[in-house]
Amino acid sequence: MVDDTDSARSSEDTARALDPQAKADWRPRGRDFDARQHQDELLAIFAAVRAAPTWDQHALLRILARHGRDGKGSVPGYFCKIELVTAYQQLTAAGVLPFERAVLRRLQMKPVRTSSGVAPVTVLTEPAGCPGRCIFCPDADGMPKSYLPDEPGARRAAQCGFDPYLQVRTRLETFEAMGHAADKVELLILGGTWSAYSRKYREWFVARCLDALNEEAARSETGPSAGGVVAARSETGHSAGGVEAARSKTGHSAGDHPVTVSPCHQVTLSQTQARNETAPHRNVGLVIETRPDWVTPDEVVHLRRLGVTKVQLGVQSLDDRILALNQRGHDVAAVRRAVGLLRAAGFKLHLHWMPNLYGATPESDRADFARLWADPALRPDELKIYPCSIIAGTELYRIWQAGGYRPYTDEELVDLVADCKATIPPYCRVNRVFRDIPADDIVAGVKSSNLRQLAHARMAERGQVCRCIRCREVRGNAVGEEGLGLVVHAYETAGSTEQFLSYETAEGRLAGFLRLSLPARETCETFEVSETSKVWAAIPEIAGAAMIREVHVYGPALEIGAENAGEAQHLGLGRRLIAEAKARAAAAGFNRLAVISAIGTRRYYERLGFERGELYMAAPL
Ligand code: SF4
Ligand SMILES: [Zn+2]
Repeated sequence: MVDDTDSARSSEDTARALDPQAKADWRPRGRDFDARQHQDELLAIFAAVRAAPTWDQHALLRILARHGRDGKGSVPGYFCKIELVTAYQQLTAAGVLPFERAVLRRLQMKPVRTSSGVAPVTVLTEPAGCPGRCIFCPDADGMPKSYLPDEPGARRAAQCGFDPYLQVRTRLETFEAMGHAADKVELLILGGTWSAYSRKYREWFVARCLDALNEEAARSETGPSAGGVVAARSETGHSAGGVEAARSKTGHSAGDHPVTVSPCHQVTLSQTQARNETAPHRNVGLVIETRPDWVTPDEVVHLRRLGVTKVQLGVQSLDDRILALNQRGHDVAAVRRAVGLLRAAGFKLHLHWMPNLYGATPESDRADFARLWADPALRPDELKIYPCSIIAGTELYRIWQAGGYRPYTDEELVDLVADCKATIPPYCRVNRVFRDIPADDIVAGVKSSNLRQLAHARMAERGQVCRCIRCREVRGNAVGEEGLGLVVHAYETAGSTEQFLSYETAEGRLAGFLRLSLPARETCETFEVSETSKVWAAIPEIAGAAMIREVHVYGPALEIGAENAGEAQHLGLGRRLIAEAKARAAAAGFNRLAVISAIGTRRYYERLGFERGELYMAAPL
């Protein structure tokens, strides 16, 4: 594992760096609520919540209208949800009533946020420029390239001074305040091109995120309860990543990383990773975003050292002419190479694709989208469709002003997205169809943030449905084991046969799935020069092995050990999927099955017979 002698500092350092007054003043709204002062009304509310035979988003409001703060159900005296969650936690902790997760879930705000079983925590890297020169990409002061200051996630990151530790703590405390379990966390590190930051910065950044996960929940008296703390730009000395290829906006260049570490607080990345295996918030997935031309065998090894499990790749177009017109700085061959390297190393592949780029037409976009599935070198696991928007200050904005670019109409775009979605294979998840840019920032072009719904409505008119993973997830609904069947979608890629194994209900709803990658036989036998062989040469421990790239079982994010009868995570689906993958890999002639495990899932795989290697885990077959 990584020997990063000058990486992370301890959380105490960051805590000291906070403005003490800001720290003392900040508390999540409702957290200082005292349930004992309203105990009778609250117990009546909880009893009604528990007794309700069915539950929908209006059920809580109906109950609250009957049970107000003053005991008379008056409208001005509503309890807010955060007070209810806090009160429930206080009263159950005091033994006044028994804890029942089902009741807490009914009280939770925005239950959809963790309904895929994992709490997502998004953090942004420090503004440091980007080696790219894409003509549509905004470059706002004080923001990582491509992010705008009024995007909600970017604003939160800026409030934390882009400090990774503070960003993670803030999100964890928000989950906590909303009553969500956040014991399984997917970390998404966004902002510009990850691979272009100095390695020291990247290692420090990940270590600090893990430090935050390794701490117990909100310790508002002594700990850095960072939420909403303004000006948390710490004096920790970690002021910039320093883009390796280009002099960054903040003046730091390659490896120019002003790290000072007090010896007593020196923690290595491998140590903080090891701690996370039993931490209160386990990292079950780590995602970064980068450019295709920055993916090399060496970079792939470094990603694994950091614990990365999924890579978001900005592809945007599969047409060399369009890529050149938009000054992407790489060609389609670079995309195919990057995808080949990442898939051979077991990463989940999340591609970004942009319709309406400069030089494209709705018809050329339809042909472009079809290449994603027709080309065996591509075939991604996940996809974001980001229609190009015109943002002031970009090169594209100038071209548009000069009359050289036309944004599609709403009608054209809805038609296009509907056509694209109708072709998504069942092994792919469409995560977004619109980038969450505030409408005020979009000078021209489509501003409909409900593009997905509009496209679905258009598809419904035509009798079509989207078969992607997202549209078929059970999403926390109760599922019975007896109603589930194993469905297998197999497809070829340039270097492997992929088997997408899923347990589905009779209606085709997904309760869980596994991605099994079987490297092509000729690659195994002749070790010909291919992306797979380059990866195997760089990472001998996976040479010749079949690979589990992903296991995902749905259900709300449950605290470890919590019961929730009927939810997919407790049907042993993960175990069954892995047993199936072992049988299939063995039947295909492989004698070893590797898995790209996240730090927080290593112990799970150990229990299933996988042994630790340096960067992967593997089981003999
Ligand atoms: S590579 Fe990404 S962040 Fe960099 S300029 Fe291009 S679109 Fe923007
Ligand atoms: Zn879909």
